[in-house]
Amino acid sequence: MQYRPYGKLGYNVSALGLGCMRLPRVVSDDGAEVRVDKEKAIELIQYAADHGINYFDTAYGYHRQTSESVLGEALDGGRREKVKVVTKQPFGVMTTQADIRKNLENTLKKLRTGYLDVYLIHNINIGPWDEIKERKIIEEYEKFKAEGLIRAIGFSYHGQFPGFKEVLSYYDWDMCQVMYNFIDTDKEVTTEAIKAAGEKGCALVIMEPLRGGGLATPPEPVKAVYNEFPVKRSGVEWAFRHLINFPQISANLSGMSTLEQLKENIGIFSKSDMVANCLSEQEKDIIARAKTAYESLITVRCTGCEYCLPCPKGVNIPQVFIKYNDGGMFGNFDQSRRAYMFQVNANADASHCAACGSCEKKCPQHLEIIKELKTAHEALKGWVE
Ligand code: SF4
Ligand code: SF4
Repeated sequence: MQYRPYGKLGYNVSALGLGCMRLPRVVSDDGAEVRVDKEKAIELIQYAADHGINYFDTAYGYHRQTSESVLGEALDGGRREKVKVVTKQPFGVMTTQADIRKNLENTLKKLRTGYLDVYLIHNINIGPWDEIKERKIIEEYEKFKAEGLIRAIGFSYHGQFPGFKEVLSYYDWDMCQVMYNFIDTDKEVTTEAIKAAGEKGCALVIMEPLRGGGLATPPEPVKAVYNEFPVKRSGVEWAFRHLINFPQISANLSGMSTLEQLKENIGIFSKSDMVANCLSEQEKDIIARAKTAYESLITVRCTGCEYCLPCPKGVNIPQVFIKYNDGGMFGNFDQSRRAYMFQVNANADASHCAACGSCEKKCPQHLEIIKELKTAHEALKGWVE
């Protein structure tokens, strides 16, 4: 297993971390009920801890608030002290300052630990950021740190680079967690964000390194590009190699749901050449062309410019198309449907479209947005968590 320095905190973490958002699940026969398969999840977590992974990431909300307790149970009895446990509290449940502490205490109980190695503010984006500053949430976290309940303070971020830069420069964060992979180099936080975090000495942890597993099963046009390279590698390995090349990245969180995936990933991260700056010019070219091949499979040519927003009915049009395009690009809609569920919960999904037509007038790509939204909704609706 490769280990990387964790920002300025003075210890190393495994370059592969276990993300506890996609633990093994059991689905009832009618598909209406889904829960963590605790036995399999515990086996998976313990195998990871016993085979070199020392970084475990979870969150208050994962698996309907059960992920933390499963992780706690798995690490209890000797493994907890050997690993780093990281979790997050979302701004949405920080109703009062007292709630912030209550939520942390509850989390510590669920994780069966007296302290967290890192406590994140979950999913800061430019929306709640002003409120997070006004409510002095970071100062609450600092109190927890002074009391020894948490050892480091971080944030996770979904959004554009300018917002990320603002959050990053506001405070002396110990770590930050962002979505990044070779498909998303110019979306969300971008390669510039990776560099900015590195320059600040802030530990950087990557989520969605395989785009929700989508990069694990490359479609034919992408396979053809990979096959040009003399050494045969899986789609997973190509995606991880792109990330391990960045010296700024401490850990890559992969949401592994089976022992088979876990063993494959541990094998990849244990190769002696999985080190910073490992990519040759030929390998970089292969990855760039694999990205182009993926993008050639996009169904709706939405550029994400957001000129169509705001929609009077609250539909987040580009986000619907991003999820729909991902499903087509990866030949698998499961991850997109799961992500769409959050949009449904936020009442920002395509079912709210009233066909007023105002978005179509503003779209520089002249997309038939109303029609495309209907098609996308049919493909994406119905996920049960
Ligand atoms: S057509 Fe539908 S998606 Fe477009 S602005 Fe009107 S309500 Fe919103
Ligand atoms: S205006 Fe058109 S291209 Fe831009 S985000 Fe909206 S749908 Fe996509």
